[in-house]
Amino acid sequence: HLDRIAAVDPAVHAFLHVDGERALQAAKAVDEAVAAGRTPASPLAGVPIAVKDVLTTQGSPTTCGSKLLEGWHAPYDATVTRKLLDAGLVILGKTNMDEFAMGSSTENSAYGPTRNPWDLDRIPGGSGGGSAAALAAFEAPLAIGTDTGGSIRQPGAMTGTVGVKPTYGTVSRHGLVAYASSFDQAGPCARTVLDAALLHEVIAGHDPMDSTSIDAPVPPVLAAARQGADGDLRGVKVGVVRELVGEGHQPGVLASFEAAVAQLRELGAEVVEVSCPSFDLALAAYYLIAPSEASSNLARFDAMRYGLRVGDDGSHSAEEVMSLTREAGFGPEVKRRIMIGTYALSAGYYDAYYGSAQKVRTLVAREFDAAFARADVLVSPTSPVTAFRIGERVDDPVAMYQVDLCTIPSNMAGNAAISVPSGLSADDGLPVGLQVFSPALQDHRGYRVAAAYE
Ligand code: GLN
Repeated sequence: HLDRIAAVDPAVHAFLHVDGERALQAAKAVDEAVAAGRTPASPLAGVPIAVKDVLTTQGSPTTCGSKLLEGWHAPYDATVTRKLLDAGLVILGKTNMDEFAMGSSTENSAYGPTRNPWDLDRIPGGSGGGSAAALAAFEAPLAIGTDTGGSIRQPGAMTGTVGVKPTYGTVSRHGLVAYASSFDQAGPCARTVLDAALLHEVIAGHDPMDSTSIDAPVPPVLAAARQGADGDLRGVKVGVVRELVGEGHQPGVLASFEAAVAQLRELGAEVVEVSCPSFDLALAAYYLIAPSEASSNLARFDAMRYGLRVGDDGSHSAEEVMSLTREAGFGPEVKRRIMIGTYALSAGYYDAYYGSAQKVRTLVAREFDAAFARADVLVSPTSPVTAFRIGERVDDPVAMYQVDLCTIPSNMAGNAAISVPSGLSADDGLPVGLQVFSPALQDHRGYRVAAAYE
């Protein structure tokens, strides 16, 4: 994999940092343990993995794709990082992302975009485009992403790989640099559903270091992926979400989705249509709540505690240093989010914006509950569009936000969702993803259906 990275990453730019020496040492340690007759720590011991650069890794940089954190080394491992290392996985390096995970194309990285291995002129999706591209370019067999509004699933769809957003609270956020804390969730990226399940079981679990961590057993996703592989979905009820299929979708995406639903039927599933009217409002509500949380979370980058410091030459006050640093260190999208969030939370506007958005969030969760009363899992396309050209949407933030149409509802409700490749679009020959939603803590249902379909 290191050779492959050396060969293709100059063109793909999936990685921000590769630590080959450390990876080889870790791999050697696993080999030696096996040679000495010790049982490997997990089925994934010795398997290389790429980690999105928003999770802390002690001894290597964590930039979040931002100039503000250039050169910053976290003094501790994220719980997810620690679990990977304890399970014997070999971390190859850190992957590129939209700055602080804000974006849908990886073009907001301060270190330049990642390119889609299917067509180097196109984006790989975002914000976790680096992790998805690393898989699609065979630079890594597994990767970790984080999904606040779709950043694992949408890049998965656009690169023909598998991406999973676990139930909120089932994978620790300790050491995941916060963007919008009530949505942020780390999860597995892989090339097959079974690989994703193996990784899911390594990283999930209760963590007292995360105050929103759920103290419940990890859903049996591996067993479900194995069960699904037999391709028998008799007795499973699949709900097609009407509001997530249609307007704004490319014809090739819709055709792929219809073919996928037909295949689920052939595998024995019963297909029903469900309606969740508030999902039409989810996108707008998300783009108020997420920036509101971000404006608070990013206040910690104050030029005193982390990373960059500009103007600290004795001629500026502390406030000026803070302002010069934030001006130089944050990119335009991050600044836009901070301003939107600060505005939405300000006295006089709070009820109209933040308050209304929270009400939509409640409605979305209720409509999910009602839909899950009628179906075991729900399905939709993962993204309304396939990978677009680099530069195509950068000047139009709303067009960029609209790409998240189908993924955001699940983050609003906190339930689980998986994106599995559903072939290539007849429009442009680019990958399309099928999204399968499961109720909270029932992640295994989606794994079973996705594995049967795959
Ligand atoms: N595109 C969405 C945003 O910019 C989601 C990003 C994410 O999931 N991290 O907020």
